[in-house]
Amino acid sequence: MASDRTPPRLYARGMSTSIAPVTTPLGGPSLPQERRLETAIPGPRSQELLARKAEAVAAGVGHTVPIAAVAAGGGVVVDADGNSLIDLGSGIAVTTVGNAHPKVVEAIAAQAAQLTHTCFMISPYESYVEVAETLNRLTPGDHAKKSALFNSGAEAVENAVKIARKFTGKQAVVAFDHAYHGRTNLTMALTAKSMPYKSGFGPFAAEVYRVPASYPFRDGLSGQDAAARAISMIEKQVGADNLAAVIIEPIQGEGGFVVPADGFLPAVVEWCRANDVVFIADEVQSGFARTGAMFASEHFGIVPDLITTAKGIAGGMPLAAVTGRADIMDATHTGGLGGTYGGNPVACAAALAAMDAFENDGLIERAQEIETLLTGRLREIAASDPRIGEVRGRGAMIAAEFVDPETGAPDAALTGAVAKACIAAGVIVLTCGTYGNVIRFLPPLSIGDDLLAEGLDVLAEALGTV
Ligand SMILES: *Cc1c(COP(=O)(O)O)cnc(C)c1O
Repeated sequence: MASDRTPPRLYARGMSTSIAPVTTPLGGPSLPQERRLETAIPGPRSQELLARKAEAVAAGVGHTVPIAAVAAGGGVVVDADGNSLIDLGSGIAVTTVGNAHPKVVEAIAAQAAQLTHTCFMISPYESYVEVAETLNRLTPGDHAKKSALFNSGAEAVENAVKIARKFTGKQAVVAFDHAYHGRTNLTMALTAKSMPYKSGFGPFAAEVYRVPASYPFRDGLSGQDAAARAISMIEKQVGADNLAAVIIEPIQGEGGFVVPADGFLPAVVEWCRANDVVFIADEVQSGFARTGAMFASEHFGIVPDLITTAKGIAGGMPLAAVTGRADIMDATHTGGLGGTYGGNPVACAAALAAMDAFENDGLIERAQEIETLLTGRLREIAASDPRIGEVRGRGAMIAAEFVDPETGAPDAALTGAVAKACIAAGVIVLTCGTYGNVIRFLPPLSIGDDLLAEGLDVLAEALGTV
């Protein structure tokens, strides 16, 4: 495809990218909102960077979309070769508000020019406190709440467990099948899947127990029955007297965008309340308008004791939080929580801008519209293609699970081939699932309807050819 547009230059020492920081109402640099392939993917400039990556970056740090990204905004990611890809991944549910969203960019620039760091544990500053106030207000439940800020989702989960142990005086933690909670030692222990997250990295943290979750497509159980199965196992194998916390993603992320059966989560919460066990909702992936509600917990009518957040919170800046019942959050001695960078002022400024957009720019409604568009088209494709076993999810967190139509067995090979074909055609899609047989759709909420539709057309075409 020929084009008279100058492709953005690959950023290099002493050289700035040619993308000017002009912003649009959609969010992000004023990039044409189109899928455009100037070269095969990866193009020559991207290949150059990937070769340098292979030389300089540890092999364990992989990548699934082989491009050198230089700019993104609205619903596209542009690479160094001038290719413009439709973004159905949001950098794993991070740029929910839109990549380089103008409000976020402005807040970052202003804060960076004023104060980049004091360490909140040394000298407090207002933006951290304001992020805490906002989280306390936006999270489910109108009880007294407090928050503490960290750098990553895994760090938030680690701290939620620390806080629950201190509050209860108990040690055991229960996590679920298909769970993903991070890559640090404790969170690897909480995460279910060995390859690639845990394999060879043990020994893992002690006092972590795993019980079955609710996965309606595969277990066929009602929410009540799935909860009874989990609770019975907890009582027999762990014992409420030893259990500090139960941690669960209200809609599981890496495990396959699994939406639990109705009644499952409320029954688990009720059991926790009756047994002095802290219920932690890990909303690192599902939080902040992503599912068509501010938090996924709201879909199930549950009010978690503690809630962990990160990913979408700050429009791409690293920030995470634990928010919850004030009595639980205050159980820790002064100095027991913190970290050098936790709640960095620039990240907090970005979070305040992003959370303002989530609350006031109609993004929850936009996620609901995206659900209608995505599930409508995916179910249409599934109706004539029995290899799609299920379309599920909420809001802009939607998945298609691929199976062998004869046996219902997970088809990871097909899933991988479809994802690869989509990426080659200029559509960024991510896979997930314990069995590697799920394609997940996590578009930024700033994407336009036409790009969403085109992205799914490409998926349908890919399915037809693999
Ligand atoms: C991504 C994720 C984490 C880990 O977050 P990091 O910022 O990568 O440490 C934890 N829990 C869930 C549900 C996640 O999706």
